[in-house]
Amino acid sequence: MPALFNKVTLIGIGLIGSSIARVIKRDKIARHLVAVAKSKKTIDSVLKLGIADSVTLDLSEAVNDADMVMLCSPLGTYKKIVREIGPNLKRGCILTDVGSVKGCVFEDIEIEKLLGVNLVPAHPVAGTEYSGPEAGFVELFEGRWCVITPDKTASKDSVEKICKLWEAAGSNVEIMDPNHHDQIMAMTSHLPHLISYTIVGTATDLEKSLVSEVVKYSAGGFRDFTRVAASDPTMWGDIMIKNKEAVLEILQRFNEDLTALQRAIRWDEYDLIHDFFSKTRKIRKEVIQAKQEKMYD
Ligand code: NAP
Repeated sequence: MPALFNKVTLIGIGLIGSSIARVIKRDKIARHLVAVAKSKKTIDSVLKLGIADSVTLDLSEAVNDADMVMLCSPLGTYKKIVREIGPNLKRGCILTDVGSVKGCVFEDIEIEKLLGVNLVPAHPVAGTEYSGPEAGFVELFEGRWCVITPDKTASKDSVEKICKLWEAAGSNVEIMDPNHHDQIMAMTSHLPHLISYTIVGTATDLEKSLVSEVVKYSAGGFRDFTRVAASDPTMWGDIMIKNKEAVLEILQRFNEDLTALQRAIRWDEYDLIHDFFSKTRKIRKEVIQAKQEKMYD
């Protein structure tokens, strides 16, 4: 495929940024790829890995003349970054991201202030519990969904280019309303993380002797929650706050179901418990059939 872009700037080059950088390099999607990070340590790692053509800590310089700028930093950084790079974005440039919440992107970016810029946010629904450029790998997005939530003013060509980029990464692309995306993710990703963090948090609050036994016998189910609860606290703190409404709504429903099960256990309502547990087994089969059982986001 001929290069889709002349110059691409990735702001943030951790797990997600470095994985898409590897795809861009592998498929020669850009003639020049610039990576920006916050720390010198990450810049040095990126240089060593050879996954970008140039690296810098200077945001404004990095976006000069870029055809596409992708935010791959935590959601909580967007407002400040866009305020800084806004005046340097060239007309016709595509501004995109990889954030796990989409409604907040429109609030934080204020596209009406960026004349001639095409806002095409995206969320690759793929990840691991690891962070940093060394954690990335080129196959991360293969067979996974990437949800695109373009602003209504974005050109058709800019949306097509972002779709092509994620298809090159091996993803299935779907265009969606940002608020609808946030409701779905609240159920499939944000609530499971919240529950995992809570379960593991409860265990760490037990007396010391019990904690060591919890670790020893963790294969009984606890282990699976520890993997999810090992996810980056900055990223997940941002997600909970940025998708507050949808998370609280789904948490309310979860609490109601939990209370119903609590009552059923107290009153020995075996049939009710059995019916509930049988329903959930079917969902597991459907997840496997949809080829979505490996890893998470
Ligand atoms: P990560 O591995 O922690 O990487 C974050 C990157 O952002 C680092 O390179 C960091 O630089 C950089 N950064 C932080 N603040 C910055 C700033 N102010 N200016 C410039 N760069 C800055 O995180 P990640 O897992 O790739 O997640 C990044 C984004 O992807 C998040 O918005 C998240 O919602 C989304 N996402 C994550 C997953 C997942 O499973 N991890 C899945 C889908 C989407 P330093 O290393 O120098 O601090």
